[in-house]
Amino acid sequence: MRSTLGIYVHLPFCPYLCPYCDFAKWPLRASVARRYLEALAAELEKSPREVAATLFLGGGTPNAYDSEAISELVQALREHYALEAEISIEVNPELVREGDFERYREAGVTRVSIGVQSFDEAEIATLGRKHSPETIAGVVAAARAAKIGSISLDLMFAVPGQTPQSWRRSLDAAVALDPDHISTYGLTVEAGTPYAAWQAREPGAFFDDTAEAELYAIALRVLRAAGYEQYEISNFARPGHRCKHNENYWRNGEYAGLGVGAASYRAGVRSVHTRSLEAYVAAALAGAPIPGESERLEGARRAGEAIMLALRTAQGVRVGEFKERYGVDIADHYAPVVARYSEAGLLERNGDYLRLTERGRFVANDVCGAFVTFD
Ligand code: SF4
Repeated sequence: MRSTLGIYVHLPFCPYLCPYCDFAKWPLRASVARRYLEALAAELEKSPREVAATLFLGGGTPNAYDSEAISELVQALREHYALEAEISIEVNPELVREGDFERYREAGVTRVSIGVQSFDEAEIATLGRKHSPETIAGVVAAARAAKIGSISLDLMFAVPGQTPQSWRRSLDAAVALDPDHISTYGLTVEAGTPYAAWQAREPGAFFDDTAEAELYAIALRVLRAAGYEQYEISNFARPGHRCKHNENYWRNGEYAGLGVGAASYRAGVRSVHTRSLEAYVAAALAGAPIPGESERLEGARRAGEAIMLALRTAQGVRVGEFKERYGVDIADHYAPVVARYSEAGLLERNGDYLRLTERGRFVANDVCGAFVTFD
């Protein structure tokens, strides 16, 4: 059987820190960033050599590193994991330099995900980002000229101050650039971030569920009308341009994470590396096990999580295959949950698939969560 293993590499440095961000990230300092690459190389060296299907460089801001460093890293990873297929990198548009995309492509990168977030100056400022919307067209053109196989734009909705009209303009501006893929994420306020403090002071500045659903509905309308297929709650693609790395997550496939705070899922065990940069670098460079936490997902918990992930996709869960893989008959074991949400018009059966209805996608977290907590 062909490998579906996904490799995730976390590059945690950013030129500045956005006030809503809860990721494992640190302000860029050249000496620390260099040492981190040495730690990654050491962790890679200790990792088993195996065949992987996809590689994703995420962050942080991967292109806070120059493209020579990225190119060396990708080549080392390709060699280690015999990688020939999808290789993705997230980029911050304001840091893209001439020749970067060519170097990425020569190293084997096939997909770039550009963190646009918004085309509206005021929203970009609210998000603490610094790019000018006018630069995005140039960045997309540069990626295309370098023959990067798939170009994706990330957009964010439910940003304080956003209106249905400004969101529509951002979607239209994205579509006008004709990317192969668009992701739209609703802003979530994470505890401990400057945004959480802002929300505590001024709750009215933030979107409630109803207003956020209105923005989501606009995204569905605009992107479908433009010919993008919604293949997951937040992801839209032209034919042949789905993100295979993320599809593997939603199929509950195995993945291995390298770097600080990176998560893995192997043989039913989910583990996550420490979020302490010092602890990660020290352990990796010493050739010691990376500190972190792990838990074995078993029984109802494992099945519930797998359903939750699969329901995020447009096709949903394949009931027969699920029974073979997890030994659980969804229609039987989860009958009360399926009945409750089907009657509410949020879940539906489509042949062998159980999936969210159009309305169900607006409250996906509630419906998916019900499978995880049901025992
Ligand atoms: S650039 Fe991304 S990872 Fe870095 S602080 Fe902003 S949102 Fe977080």
